[in-house]
Amino acid sequence: MSRISRRRFLRVAGVGMAASTLPSFASSETARRPFSADAAGSCLAISSANGIASVAVARALVLEKAMRPVSAAVRGVASVEADENDMSVGYGGLPNELGVVQLDSACMDGPTHNAGSVASIEDIMHPAQVAELVMDHTDHINLVGPGARQFALDYGFKAENLLTERARGIWLKWRAQRSGDDRLWPLLDTVPADPALAAEPRPWGTIHCSVLAPNADLGCCTTTSGLAFKIPGRIGDSPLIGCGLYCDNEVGSAGATGRGEAAILSGGSWLVVERMRAGDTPEEACLYALRRVAQQAERGARWQPALWKDGQPNFGLTFYALRKDGLYGSANMRGGGRFAIADEKGARLENCAIAFGQ
Ligand code: ASP
Repeated sequence: MSRISRRRFLRVAGVGMAASTLPSFASSETARRPFSADAAGSCLAISSANGIASVAVARALVLEKAMRPVSAAVRGVASVEADENDMSVGYGGLPNELGVVQLDSACMDGPTHNAGSVASIEDIMHPAQVAELVMDHTDHINLVGPGARQFALDYGFKAENLLTERARGIWLKWRAQRSGDDRLWPLLDTVPADPALAAEPRPWGTIHCSVLAPNADLGCCTTTSGLAFKIPGRIGDSPLIGCGLYCDNEVGSAGATGRGEAAILSGGSWLVVERMRAGDTPEEACLYALRRVAQQAERGARWQPALWKDGQPNFGLTFYALRKDGLYGSANMRGGGRFAIADEKGARLENCAIAFGQ
C-alpha cells in the first residue's frame, strides 16, 4: 500500500534529525508529485464506521473531479449530515438539554495548512460546508453560535429545523427520566427507554473523514451533533483543530470520535499526527494517543471518579489516522469498533486496534 518508502517518509517528515536541525518545511518532493490517474492506488479516504458511503464518495471526487482532499472530505460527509437516521450528525442529530440541535464541525486543508470551523451552530444541515467557507473566505478559524449561523445564511445556506420527530421523542424520554443535577457526569446518563439506544451510555457519534490524494496532498473534516443532551453551548472536540481533527501535509491526517473532552484535554488528533511524524505507523500513533488519554483520565479520575473503572477509562474514544505514504489505521479505547476505508480495492469496514479490553 505504501507509495513512498518508510525511509523516505521519515526523511520527508524530518524524523531522526539532530535536535538542532529543523526539518524542512518547504513542500516535499512527494507533495509536488503531479496528479496522475494511474497513481490511484495512493488515493485513500478513511472515516468512522458511519462513513462507508462517505469514503467512497470522497475518493471518487478526488480521482474523477481532481477535487482537493479537504473538499472531498466535506462533500463525502454531506450524506451523513443529511441522514435523519444517523442521530449523531447533522439533521436528525440528538439535541441539547433544551431540545435544540447544535452542530459542531471543522475542516483542515493540508497544502495551505489552513482550517475553518463552526461550533454550536443551529438550523444549518451542512456545517462542514460552512466550516470550509470560513476556511476559504475569512482569515478566522472558529465561528460560534449565532455568528456562525448568520455567516452560513449570508453564504446562501437555508435555515431549517434539524430536530426530527424521532430525535425529539428520545429527548422527551430523556427529559422525563432525568433526575437531579446530572451536569457533572453527563457521559454516564442513559436513555433506557429507547430500544435503539438501550444499554448505551449517552449516545456518541460523529463522523471524521481524512483523505489522501494521489499527489500526496491531505485534507480532513469532522462533523457532529455532539454529545446528546449537552448543556447548551457545549463545544466538543470536533470543531477544535488539533483535537477532533488535524492534518499536516508533510506527515498525515487524523481525527477523533467519542468523548470529546478527552480528545480536547489530550490534543489528541495533533498528537496522533506528531507520533506519525516521529515514525509511528497510523495504528501505533492512535494507540499511543489513547494510552496518553488513559494516563490523563486516571489522573482526572480523582476529580471525576466516573471516568475510571476497573483499571481503565470508562468512556469511548476512537482515533483515525492516514499517513502521507498511504498507510492508515485506527484504534479505540475499549474494543468492538470499526472504521471505514476506501482505496483501490473499494470501500469497506475494518476493525480498529484496541487500547484496552479484549
Ligand atoms: N466527539 C463528539 C463530541 O464530543 C461526540 C462523539 O464523537 O460521539 O462532541
